[in-house]
This record gives sequence, C-alpha cells and structure tokens, in this order.
Amino acid sequence: MTFTQHTIALLFLSALLVHFEIAEASDDAVAVVEGAALIKAAPRHRDTYANPGESLSHGSFGVRVPFMLRRLGTYFRDGRNAPEQQTPDTAQLRSYVKDGPPTVTWIGHSTLLVQMGGLTFLTDPIWSNIPSPLPPLGPRRFVPPAVAINELPTIDFVMISHNHYDHLDLPTLRALARRNPQTLFLVPLGNAALLQRHGIDNVRELDWGESVELAGLTVHCLPAQHWSKRSLTDTNKALWSSWAVIGERRRFYHAGDTGYFAGFKQIADYLGPFDLAAVPIGAYAPRQMMRASHMNPEEAVSAALDLDAKTAVAMHFGTFDLSDEPLNQPPRRFKQAAAAQGLGEQQAWVLKIGETRSF
Ligand SMILES: [Zn+2]
Repeated sequence: MTFTQHTIALLFLSALLVHFEIAEASDDAVAVVEGAALIKAAPRHRDTYANPGESLSHGSFGVRVPFMLRRLGTYFRDGRNAPEQQTPDTAQLRSYVKDGPPTVTWIGHSTLLVQMGGLTFLTDPIWSNIPSPLPPLGPRRFVPPAVAINELPTIDFVMISHNHYDHLDLPTLRALARRNPQTLFLVPLGNAALLQRHGIDNVRELDWGESVELAGLTVHCLPAQHWSKRSLTDTNKALWSSWAVIGERRRFYHAGDTGYFAGFKQIADYLGPFDLAAVPIGAYAPRQMMRASHMNPEEAVSAALDLDAKTAVAMHFGTFDLSDEPLNQPPRRFKQAAAAQGLGEQQAWVLKIGETRSF
C-alpha cells in the first residue's frame, strides 16, 4: 500500500468521522423484555438507536481533525511494544468436552475464543488485516490472529457487539459460516440483514434484555454505550450491545465496545457476579474524542468492579492501529489501576495473543 493510498483511506475515514451525527437521548425507552426488569430495551428514534442518558459526543472538530492528521503520521509506526504472542494448543482446544475446564483464549483485539458449559464460541471475530470499508485502505494490524480459522475447534456460536469494521468483519464471518453452517451468529437488532446479504443465514437478532437458550447456556444481549456506522448514511441504524453467557458453573461477560456507563451496575444486579469479564482497555486517546465510546484502562477496572467480576480480561488494544496512545500503555495502566482500585493485579488478566487460561 502506498502512502497516497493510505492518505486516501485516511481522508475517507476522516469523512466518516466528520460525518458523525450525534444521536439524541431518548426518553421513550420501552419496557422490559423477558422479565429483565433492570434492563430496558434499547432507546430508539424512528430508525436510529440511541444510548440511555446523554448524547454521545465524539469531541469537537478541533480535536478530530488534528487526530486524523496524526493518524497519517502513524503510517510508519511499527508494531514494537505490541502484545506478546504464543501459539495456542489447538489440539487441546479441539478436544474440549463438556466437563472440561472453562477457558478463554485471546485471538487478538476483541476476539476471544471461549469454551464453557460444553460449547465453544467466539466474540467479535476478526481475522482480516485491515478493518475498513475499503481495504487495503485503513488501519493496520500489528499482530496476526493467534490461530488460523481452519484450526479452530467447531464453533457453536458467535457473538457480535456492533457493526464497526474492527468488530463485524464480513470476510471472517463468511469463512466461519462456510466452515460450519451450524454456527449461530448472534447480533444486536438491525444487524441481521447485513449478514444475510452476505450469505450468512443462521443469524439471530436480539434487543437489549433479550436472551437465547443454547444447550444449557443462556446468552443475554445487554446494553453498551457506543454507536454504529459502516457507511456515510447508516449512523446508529443498527444497535450495539454487550453480551453475557450464563452457564451452570460459569458466568462470562463481554463488554463489546463501550464507554464507561451506569449500565454495568444494572447488568451486575441482573446477572452478576461474573467469573470473567472481558473489558476493552484501548483506543482511548485523544480522550475528548474517545471518552464517550471507549473506556480507558482505569474505567475498564471500574467497569469490572461494577460488574462484580471476579476476574477481568483485557481486550481491544495492541492489535490494530486505531488511536494515539502508545501500544504498551493500556496493559500497563490496566494492571496499575487494578492494584490501585482494589480489583487486584492478579485478577486483571493481560493475556499474550494466543494464550489460553482457565477461569
Ligand atoms: Zn466501535
């Protein structure tokens, strides 16, 4: 990719960012789905979704434009200080049986492979090198995915948090669906049509507060404070979410992509405590632009505490070139914050890409 191509890509992405529309808060949030008294359905204004509470700010023009110019400068940023890598024991992962110990494996970014309650699932799977509407133009990947798709164990289901390109990666989803037509794709409202247009038919769409039963596990679609966009005209027309997977012996939470918000406490009251909560800790700088939609490491620790999580595992850092902070800053601050805020450093996991841990 030439510098000119990269410039065009960045201009395109700047156009996306400049085009942000600010969704208004809604007070017509409707009630409760499936008895989840604490979790309200997502606020909606005609054909767009909103966050509960305040409008989501992406910072002023004066912050966004210099940010875009700095992005140009990071084209030559190398992957130094990216997360360490190790090769996962794929044979072990493929031989998982129902009574085996629940595990989490970090594939990279927000992609986790989780095995619990006899099922195997992926979160926000992205195997592509460039999350962008116009690859090869877009942010670069510093660390390759930990394992090839073909070496994965059989995937029972996939949870997708929202439609941004680094979380909803169509080439990956198509490959997973082709590999196993039984794989069920769980998405928040308004996202199923996109998958179906790309030949992925086994899709289930859920609103916040709704859940689905899957062979002994209950998967809950839950709030997150974020937004959505894949083109110039579809801002917030598809919903975003976090997810919880509740089994007999383990309770797992995936925060998706989110700012710090009051919803974590409500989710804990409804479904906590969690054995393991995956929390995003990167893409927080510049703060004025990112605060509403991306937590910093200190907020990620606060979220884990609000969620009543025994252990928090870090994600959404070190994999793609998305923001200003140095690559190794998020995990360092995450560990420090865990010690300072009382979660405990041992309970704040920073995995190597490819590392598997029991929880
Ligand atoms: Zn996002």
